Amino acid sequence: MKQPSLASSGLDRRRFLLRGIAAGAALLPMPARATALGSAGRRLSFVNLHTDETLTALYWANGSYQPNAVKDINYLLRDFRTGDVHAIDLRLLDLLHTLQHRARSKSPFQVISGYRSPATNAKLAALSDGVARHSYHVKGMAIDIALADRALPELHQAALSLRAGGVGFYPKPGFVHVDVGPVRTW
Ligand SMILES: [Zn+2]
Repeated sequence: MKQPSLASSGLDRRRFLLRGIAAGAALLPMPARATALGSAGRRLSFVNLHTDETLTALYWANGSYQPNAVKDINYLLRDFRTGDVHAIDLRLLDLLHTLQHRARSKSPFQVISGYRSPATNAKLAALSDGVARHSYHVKGMAIDIALADRALPELHQAALSLRAGGVGFYPKPGFVHVDVGPVRTW
């Protein structure tokens, strides 16, 4: 019976298109090939609060990570202070993808901090006690995030429930730290 799968792929494609429209014209245009892949993939959306850059990237599709999309993500998550770009751990992208679903959020991830060069991390560590624990930022294995459609404690609880790595709660600056290091919380 081919009928059901055809019908469902048509539906998925409509959903995909609707999502694209709902995401708004402010987002960067998706690569042409992405539209042909329908919903059989993993997509992440970001807004970098320091640079105002936005990105929606289908970073995994047809059974593999998509190098161009991953490259776009790496660039958006660069050290905005120095301009240094570093590969972001692919497990962190999957963690974010899972976290988005767990939090039942439809908002892009607001990025407070992604990759940090050693120079930037040292500078920040000298200013704040909390920064030393963020060393996974230097390895491209950590990100500080918030979601516009979820309260911070909700995002925090969703992150804790994954038991997938480090989770830090920073209510005052207003973000949750997640990383793909060992499971630990603070
Ligand atoms: Zn952090």
